[in-house]
Amino acid sequence: ARKFIVGGNWKCNGTVEEVKKIVTVLNEAEVPPEEVVEVVVSPPFVFLSLVKSLLRSDFQVTAQNCWVRKGGAFTGEVSAEMLVNLGIPWVILGHSERRLLLGETNEFVGDKVAYALSQGLKVIACVGETLEQRESGSTMDIVAAQTKAIAGWILDWNNVVLAYEPVWAIGTGKVATPTQAQEVHTALRKLLHDNVSPEVAASTRIIYGGSVNGANCKELAAQPDIDGFLVGGASLKPEFVDIIKSAT
Ligand code: 13P
Repeated sequence: ARKFIVGGNWKCNGTVEEVKKIVTVLNEAEVPPEEVVEVVVSPPFVFLSLVKSLLRSDFQVTAQNCWVRKGGAFTGEVSAEMLVNLGIPWVILGHSERRLLLGETNEFVGDKVAYALSQGLKVIACVGETLEQRESGSTMDIVAAQTKAIAGWILDWNNVVLAYEPVWAIGTGKVATPTQAQEVHTALRKLLHDNVSPEVAASTRIIYGGSVNGANCKELAAQPDIDGFLVGGASLKPEFVDIIKSAT
């Protein structure tokens, strides 16, 4: 069975005071045990150490990005080696905000996934279509191309979680319906089945992101191919705890 996983992507938000506050809420929360739900929180780079030092030990910390190759003369970047050195086990790669605002291509994201995995990081790899792409009927072509650009580099799928995050649902309050999300998750699983292996298709966790909140998470979590969530806005609020609890 695939273990439910809930990620909190804080994006470019927070102050030291706010970070301490949300970590306190998480530390005091009663949630299902680690064996039932894996929880990862993703602060901005500058807060990684702080969060790691304060956060309960059954929750993990993930970075929101890392450099595509070994570190060096790359001003402003943070390398996979640095994350490993800091004891950060995960990194989110290919988020649509980076694809769309910073011009990260499928190939670039694929290279990042390859390098991060080679350094021992686990990766939450994001895919998702824009509204225009959905309306023109190309959703599956887009997410398939994004997924294939990543899949070719993966040797051990145990270290990868796929996040389906439709761009039109991110930060808009317009959540995908359980049927819409399930449809794409099923198609992604079939893609893994046909392009990688039936075993990988069955075991790889595919999580949903885009306006997930405490009220809509239960119905989404009940879908057979939704194995967790990547949460933005609501991950900065106490309702993130309700989303974690939707695992059971
Ligand atoms: P929201 O939950 O704010 O829509 O963001 C989703 C997301 O982009 C998580 O990575």
